Amino acid sequence: MDLNTVTDLVPTADPADWREGDAWLAGGTVLFSYGSGSLRRLLDVTSAGWPALTVTDAGLEIAATCTVAQLYAFPQDPGSAPVRDSWRALDLVRPCCDSFVASFKIWNTSTVGGNVATSLPAGPMTSLTAALDGVAEVWGPSGARRTQPVAELVTGDMCNTLGPGELLRAIRVPAAALRARTAFRRLSLTNLGRSGVLLIGRRDADDDGGELVLTVTASTRRPVQLRFAPGAHPDAAALSAAIDAAIPADLYHDDIHGLPAWRRDMTYRLAEEIRRELLDRTDGGRR
Ligand SMILES: Cc1cc2nc3c(=O)[nH]c(=O)nc-3n(C[C@H](O)[C@H](O)[C@H](O)COP(=O)(O)OP(=O)(O)OC[C@H]3O[C@@H](n4cnc5c(N)ncnc54)[C@H](O)[C@@H]3O)c2cc1C
Repeated sequence: MDLNTVTDLVPTADPADWREGDAWLAGGTVLFSYGSGSLRRLLDVTSAGWPALTVTDAGLEIAATCTVAQLYAFPQDPGSAPVRDSWRALDLVRPCCDSFVASFKIWNTSTVGGNVATSLPAGPMTSLTAALDGVAEVWGPSGARRTQPVAELVTGDMCNTLGPGELLRAIRVPAAALRARTAFRRLSLTNLGRSGVLLIGRRDADDDGGELVLTVTASTRRPVQLRFAPGAHPDAAALSAAIDAAIPADLYHDDIHGLPAWRRDMTYRLAEEIRRELLDRTDGGRR
């Protein structure tokens, strides 16, 4: 795709350098495939040299520039060895990366930050980080810094709260969520198609509160989270009622990857599968 209005490629991750007509460039898999008739400069954030993945006492910091390939490798690479056994939710990393049905080129260049900033309903990095209560760190052109849960940063199909010139720096995933037991369900209309429905359930360890969290993505235009405290784990009817309340009919996404009615039906079905998987017999009903 030609970007023949672009005259400069600037290696910077400093929002103070941003001006009208600029776009942050990460892997470029959206920018170079969708094109633009108005961009003047691309600000290349991959020049920042941020470490892709950093394990801290608080959890995992994922740099915006972390590629899908780097994230996919993480559960098996030496950097995750000290936490591998206790961070059970790392099991989600590979299925989420695999949901990104992508060529070798896209796999190795596209970034976690670029995926979240693009904010497609079927953005698998949005699914992963929202489901694990990831918090985005955002840098603004005026020097202001803010944080926001990924589940709230993405507000619709290719819509988010990032203002002009704001840069997504990193996503921090809390250790408590990483210790959780998880369940993953995804459906696509075709074998190698984009996700039409993607649900992730998380049951936190009892010493982390024991909460049950269900995150709906791909079937809805933005992430939707349902949270159930340990004393209020739902039975099938309560879960269904909670989905009714949280997802109005017009929030189901409608595009070539699935009709809203199909996405809705599959959301209820997969949510119930996850509920059963994560709630064992001793607390399978409302307590
Ligand atoms: C064949 C193919 C299949 C694809 N499949 C999927 C799919 O299944 N699901 C899906 O979600 N996407 C898909 N995509 C779209 C795209 O590849 C991904 O969304 C990708 O993750 C974008 O990341 P990137 O690093 O390449 O972003 P870029 O193209 O570099 O940037 C995308 C947008 O995000 C902005 N941006 C990038 N980094 C930052 C940052 N740190 N802070 C603020 N803004 C930023 C850019 O300015 C631009 O507007 C596909 C694309 C192709 C070509």
